[in-house]
Amino acid sequence: MIVVIKPHVAEERTNQLIEWFKGMGLGVHVSNGEVNTVLGLIGDTGRVDKDLIASLDIVDSVSQVSEKFKQCNRKFHPEDTVVQVGDVKIGGGNFVMIAGPCSVESEEQIVTVAKAVKASGAQLLRGGAFKPRTSPYDFQGLKGEGIELLKIARQETGLPIVSEIMNLIDLPLFEDVDVLQVGARSMQNFDLLKELGKTKKPILLKRGMANTLQETLMSAEYIMAGGNENVIFCERGIRTYSDYTRNTLDLSAVPMLHELSHLPVIVDPSHATGLARLVEPMALAATACGADGLLIEVHNDPLHALCDGAQSLRPEEFDAAAKKIRKVREAIL
Ligand code: PEP
Ligand code: MN
Repeated sequence: MIVVIKPHVAEERTNQLIEWFKGMGLGVHVSNGEVNTVLGLIGDTGRVDKDLIASLDIVDSVSQVSEKFKQCNRKFHPEDTVVQVGDVKIGGGNFVMIAGPCSVESEEQIVTVAKAVKASGAQLLRGGAFKPRTSPYDFQGLKGEGIELLKIARQETGLPIVSEIMNLIDLPLFEDVDVLQVGARSMQNFDLLKELGKTKKPILLKRGMANTLQETLMSAEYIMAGGNENVIFCERGIRTYSDYTRNTLDLSAVPMLHELSHLPVIVDPSHATGLARLVEPMALAATACGADGLLIEVHNDPLHALCDGAQSLRPEEFDAAAKKIRKVREAIL
């Protein structure tokens, strides 16, 4: 249930109402907008007398949220959420470029790529340490050592680091990782989502390759229900009939998620297409349709990459793409 408070109501009166709701065993999410304060009631609102609340002199309107996703719903929180990672802001008009290799392979590799992408304007460094591979015989990532190498690259460049967590038992290893990525294959690992909800870490939540937007929203809800509001959606392509690309990049997800939710939405054109030559055009399209950022795989030597070389940009290609991305961004503002 959403309760919109009238403008210019004394804070004390709003607080009295909040306490009253809490006394009924409800959670109250408070969103202070420029004009109105919006109270989102969480829990069993069946016992709340809607007409009684609507008749209060401080209340502007009362409405029911019919969707199952509550806390990530824009009705709960009309303003865009801005997720903060160190000095970097994501969402609410703040655009982020996240770049780096699919997998961390060595200190030299990750530091070289980190320096290059930073010079081209990336604000966050990505790198997989735990890799979800289709084949058990493929490179599985450097695991804990990979996380340590990412930290060295952060120290060398100042770029905050993003890495995928596959299993909740690895959580202690991620204590010093700035953004935890939930991969497409883990989007409905509900135990993992619940555990991440107990942290305050920014979570980059990738859409599953066969998941609807509603399921994606419900996964964000799992994290938020635990008390962690720092969730960023990532559209990375879904399985359709595409035969020449790895996936189909569903760009309509960007404006749709923006309409349904207040959380930032970024796009990963690398996993969406699987082909380096398609990354730049799709990155430009994603920027044009209002994405809050991009996640792009960059490797210093794609031909010898241990994972996803075919979709990885060389540093100079990323530099050229970043320049065009900034132009598109300026054009739509
Ligand atoms: C990745 O980012 O390296 C990755 C495995 O992505 P996804 O979960 O989208 O396949
Ligand atoms: Mn990859």
